[in-house]
Amino acid sequence: MLAATATVIVATGQSPANIIILSMTVVSVSFVGLGTYRILAPLVSTVPDTGITIGGRTRIALEREKALVLRSLKELEFDFAMGKMAKADFDEMSGRLRARALGLMRQLDAGGGYKEQIAKEVESRLSEPSVRPKPDTTDVIEEVTGLCVCGTQNDPDAKFCKNCGAKL
Ligand SMILES: [Zn+2]
Repeated sequence: MLAATATVIVATGQSPANIIILSMTVVSVSFVGLGTYRILAPLVSTVPDTGITIGGRTRIALEREKALVLRSLKELEFDFAMGKMAKADFDEMSGRLRARALGLMRQLDAGGGYKEQIAKEVESRLSEPSVRPKPDTTDVIEEVTGLCVCGTQNDPDAKFCKNCGAKL
């Protein structure tokens, strides 16, 4: 703003140049404002962990590239099997693609190791307790309610299933 004011004071009378300089000053000031906003926005923003989304994005990009490399490797093998390609060319290209795929897999293992481990841990902990008590409770329910193995609901005091005749 100081620069804009100075420009206006200095350039009074030179109307076309004045307008150009003034507009340039206004543009540059707006850029400075934008920069300041960008710097301050993360401090005020309520959305945390932009790093994780960036990591997720790169992971997705890596997985996409890996799929692409593997697909072109398959196409290459197909082309070679069809006799469309010389052995030397095939060896060179497939070797390059294989190295690329290996590199991508290594990157994926290194980058996503923690998240996947945590996800697996959480999954196993959630599934373990729900698997164990289920057989016990269903056994009890079958005894009490007269629910047969075939799925038929019998009277609670029934000795045999009314549908299939199995002993309850
Ligand atoms: Zn039955």
